[in-house]
Amino acid sequence: MDFEAFFKNELDGLHQEGRYRVFADLERHRGSFPRATHHTADGTKDVTVWCSNDYLGMGQHPAVISAMHEAIDHCGAGAGGTRNISGTTHYHVLLERELADLHGKEAGLIFNSGYMSNWATLGTLGQKIPGLIIFSDALNHASMIEGIRHGKCERVIWKHNDLEDLEAKLAAADPKAPKLIAFESVYSMDGDISPIKEICDLADKYGAMTYLDEVHAVGMYGPRGGGIAEREGLMDRITIIEGTLGKAFGVMGGYITASTALCDFIRSFASGFIFTTALPPTLAAGAIASIRHLKVSQMERARHQERVRKLRGMLDKHGIPHMPNPSHIVPVMVGDAAKCKWISDILLDTCNIYVQPINYPTVPRKTERLRITPTPLHSDADLEHLVNSLHQMWSRCALARHVA
Ligand SMILES: *Cc1c(COP(=O)(O)O)cnc(C)c1O
Repeated sequence: MDFEAFFKNELDGLHQEGRYRVFADLERHRGSFPRATHHTADGTKDVTVWCSNDYLGMGQHPAVISAMHEAIDHCGAGAGGTRNISGTTHYHVLLERELADLHGKEAGLIFNSGYMSNWATLGTLGQKIPGLIIFSDALNHASMIEGIRHGKCERVIWKHNDLEDLEAKLAAADPKAPKLIAFESVYSMDGDISPIKEICDLADKYGAMTYLDEVHAVGMYGPRGGGIAEREGLMDRITIIEGTLGKAFGVMGGYITASTALCDFIRSFASGFIFTTALPPTLAAGAIASIRHLKVSQMERARHQERVRKLRGMLDKHGIPHMPNPSHIVPVMVGDAAKCKWISDILLDTCNIYVQPINYPTVPRKTERLRITPTPLHSDADLEHLVNSLHQMWSRCALARHVA
C-alpha cells in the first residue's frame, strides 16, 4: 500500500468539504489577557482572542502563576511516575481534597485531562458493572461517547435534554438492570443547560446512577464555582460530578468527584488512570490556587456574566443573530460553512480579532457559527471593536439580520 498517498487523499477529502482544520499559531501575553501574538508566514501581529476556554483568564492569574513557580522551584518539573509508582506528590493529594470539597463529595480523583476522566470512568463502569445500561444524552461530548463505547455495555441514546424521551427509554429497559444516566450541565456549542433536577428525579424513580459533566460550568457558576449543580443545590443528588482543570480553572487536567468507594474503585481498576504518568506537581499546584481563589472570589463570575449580557445587547442593536441561551457561550450564527470560515479569516487578517469558525461535524450543517466567549478581561473597547467588525462582515456577506 502507498501509505503517503492514502493519507494525502484522506486529507484532500477534508479540504474539499471545507472542514480541514488550520490551527492559529498563537503566543499568549501574560498580564495582557486576552491579547496574543499571531504567527503567520508573513510575520507576526497582535490579536484579541475571542474564543478561549480560559473563560475567566485564570491561566494568567497572579495567584496561579506564583503557585506554579513555587512548585517548580520546590519539587522540579515532572511527577516522576504513575500515581501508583512514586508519582503521587503532596500537591495531588491536596488537589483531590480541594475538589471533593468543591463538589461536596467524599472523594476526588484526578486524571491527566477531562477527556481522560470521562473516557476512563465511563469505560470502567461499563466494563465492570454486570449488565449496566448507560443512558447517554445525544449531544454528549466525544470523550463521554468514546468512554461509553469502550465500556462495551448496552447504551441507549436519548434526545438532547428531552425528559419525555429519557423517561420512555428508562421505562422500556429491564427494570432489574443497573442503569446510569450520563449528561452535561452546560453544553459547549449551544450553551444550553440541562434540567438537572428533573433528570435526578427520573434517576431516583428508575434506580439509576447519575454522571454529570460540568466541564463548561466549574469555576463559573455556583457561589463557590462548583458548577450548575452547586448553583441549584443539587450536588448531593448526582452520583459522579466530572470536571476539567483546563477551562475556567486555567491550567490542565480532569477529575471526578463521588463517594469514597466509587473513586477508589476507579482508581483501582481504570487503565486510563493507572498506566500513565501523573500530572506534574506544578499543574496540581496551579489548579489548587485557582480553585481556592474562585471558591471565595465572586468578582470574576460577576464580571463574566456582565460582559456576556453587554455583548448580547450590543449584538441585538445591530441585528446580528446569536443563539439565545442561559450561559456564557455566545454562538453567533452564520449558517454557511464557507462564509463562516471567510468571516473568521477576515476578522483575523484585517481586524486583529481571533474567533475560530465552528463547522460540521462539531455542529450540524447549516448551523455553522462563531462561538464567542467573552471573558471578564475583555474591555468595553474590545466589545465595540468586535461588534463593529461583525456588523461590517454581515453587510459584506449579505447575511440576514435578526429584526428585534
Ligand atoms: C473540553 C471538554 C472535555 C474535555 O476536557 P479536557 O480537560 O479539555 O480534556 C470534556 N467534556 C466536555 C463537555 C468538554 O467540552
